[in-house]
Amino acid sequence: MTIKFIGSPNFDNSRKPIKQVVIHWIVGDLTSADATFQKVGGVSAHYGVEDEIIHQYVLEEDTAYAVGVYYRNQESISIEHSASPDRLASNATYSTSAKLIADICQRNNIPVDRQHIIGHNEIKATQCPGTMDIDRLIREANSEIIAQPIAQLTLQTIIPKELLEGEDQNLEIQQVAGLLKDGKRDNLDLQNCRKELKQCQDSHSTSPDAPKTVPIDKSDPPNQTFQLPPIVTQFLGWLRKKLGL
Ligand SMILES: [Zn+2]
Repeated sequence: MTIKFIGSPNFDNSRKPIKQVVIHWIVGDLTSADATFQKVGGVSAHYGVEDEIIHQYVLEEDTAYAVGVYYRNQESISIEHSASPDRLASNATYSTSAKLIADICQRNNIPVDRQHIIGHNEIKATQCPGTMDIDRLIREANSEIIAQPIAQLTLQTIIPKELLEGEDQNLEIQQVAGLLKDGKRDNLDLQNCRKELKQCQDSHSTSPDAPKTVPIDKSDPPNQTFQLPPIVTQFLGWLRKKLGL
């Protein structure tokens, strides 16, 4: 997932904690969105998606002018989609947007459901998001999240980047992260890691309450307690034993 930053003059830094992702349609293509969001004193959105391409206009930590109700802009991230009345969004647009939604929701600890992924018209009377199928985006975003531990398996993705880089208070993570950083991970048989992670995942897949995401508190000052999903906790236990911790 590559994101090209385009920018827009239409934003401010009044961001409140992010609660929702708002779905829009461009009624045009990405080129027209690029042009619209460049107009000074106009509107904006955080992202625009067309097939495999993602353009970013406003940083997530800033407020975009996208939904027409200011305080809702402060609490949401807006994604525009290339589609118009005579042209449905492509399959690729859906799948790229689903990856982006999954990523945004995981980073901001937002559940991927119909209460948190909403259409522009649920905030204000508008035609937007037109023909966009929000249930489909939610479905595809959720399968991205569930597929991640297996599909993109590297030790870096098992243990979130923030934990590897941050000053984490969790000793267990710190020890493992330290070893991984020191390059000692070469001692580990990656095949075995994969197998073990798959087993951890299988043993937790029967529990519907098991969190699928890794919530990381982004409050300021940061809250130092990280809640890891049971899959990761179990895997870390195994990893520690392997590493002789
Ligand atoms: Zn809209």
